Amino acid sequence: MVSDHKTFDTLIIGAGPVGLVAAIGFARAGHQVALVAPPSTPNGFGRTVALMKSSIDYLAELGLWDAIQPNTAPLARMTLIDDTGSLFRPPPAMFNASEINLPAFGYNIEVEHLVRILESAVTAQSGIIRLTDTVEAISVDSRSATVTLSDRSSLNGLLVVGADGRKSKVRSAVGITAKEWNYAQSALTTVLDHTRDHHDTSTEFHTREGPFTLVPLPGKRSSLVWLASPARAQMLHALDERSLSTRIEAQSQSLLGKVRISGQRGLVPMAGLSVSVITRHRAALVGEAAHAFPPIGAQGLNLGMRDVRDLVRSTANASDHGSADVLANYQRKRSRDIATRTRAVDTLNRSLLSPLLPVDFARGFGLLAISTVKPLRKFVMRQGLGA
Ligand SMILES: Cc1cc2nc3c(=O)[nH]c(=O)nc-3n(C[C@H](O)[C@H](O)[C@H](O)COP(=O)(O)OP(=O)(O)OC[C@H]3O[C@@H](n4cnc5c(N)ncnc54)[C@H](O)[C@@H]3O)c2cc1C
Repeated sequence: MVSDHKTFDTLIIGAGPVGLVAAIGFARAGHQVALVAPPSTPNGFGRTVALMKSSIDYLAELGLWDAIQPNTAPLARMTLIDDTGSLFRPPPAMFNASEINLPAFGYNIEVEHLVRILESAVTAQSGIIRLTDTVEAISVDSRSATVTLSDRSSLNGLLVVGADGRKSKVRSAVGITAKEWNYAQSALTTVLDHTRDHHDTSTEFHTREGPFTLVPLPGKRSSLVWLASPARAQMLHALDERSLSTRIEAQSQSLLGKVRISGQRGLVPMAGLSVSVITRHRAALVGEAAHAFPPIGAQGLNLGMRDVRDLVRSTANASDHGSADVLANYQRKRSRDIATRTRAVDTLNRSLLSPLLPVDFARGFGLLAISTVKPLRKFVMRQGLGA
């Protein structure tokens, strides 16, 4: 138990990948940081994240990338295949990172490895106290923020950072209302061994129930994110290993040869979340506390990392880094990026689910244009990286 009213510069609530990077970012900027969240669970439910250039640059700036990279596989190519059966089905769209002079669009890593590496970095970093309690209450006044923990002790700081995920207590404590919505989809996630090489290529099959995505991992391994109707995803999740492998092979048109399930399985209902402001009264939201959408185009965590980067930069050299002016600057920097990504993912996902011909046409035409119009291709590729 910590002593009553221990004082820090910055209180970070949540130790998912976003909160862990935030703690290191603020500590490197010279803050005394309290990082509060229950211990990370080792089970990653077969989930991976593709880290794009904006995240990699920031992780490298914090000296974290060298420990992460050996656990990743590069995404040198991406293929999008329209498997909706639409009348306006365009040919597969293929993108090569070399077209924009990069060795890879991003690097894919199992979430449990990423969190383990970041937790070790937090332990090694001076200036961070890692507390494994749950936050029970948060109060703010003009001078400071106070967080009460499950052991009834409390912490004080000039700024409280809500990295506490979709059900953020920080968000509700400062009165920021979230707009939430559901999609008629769940994601089945797992990790596969396969007999053919993935050639560092990520492949997205766009089906009527959502994307079926294979993302390379080191060796002949890939992660699977299969968006389907909740009933079908539940049915697939419950299949024995052999039957599920057969379904995956069929859905992927045997692209990777024979597949074997080699990771845990996860089942995630698809939902979206947005807020009209990401700061209020000495509180700033980052990551899924501020925005959430389906895993299409590997955008969610990359957006969260940019939140952290911009928050740490906005607060640099401020005499009171939780003041309204500093937080308004952070809000200004992030609004457009968050709104654009949330809208783009939502629109693409809904266009897949729509049976309407004009919507099919627009999506098919869009994909064809991206495939064939060179400047548009490059623009879209750079946007995907978080440029
Ligand atoms: C299937 C799938 C695939 C994805 N693939 C990608 C991808 O390829 N690329 C990408 O960029 N993104 C991807 N995403 C999105 C990405 O996983 C999320 O954006 C990211 O994990 C969110 O991290 P976070 O740290 O914001 O939240 P979380 O990981 O949810 O962490 C929240 C933290 O807050 C803590 N917490 C909650 N309440 C309290 C409390 N009261 N007190 C203390 N602690 C609390 C929790 O214990 C946890 O530590 C994917 C998502 C899914 C579902």
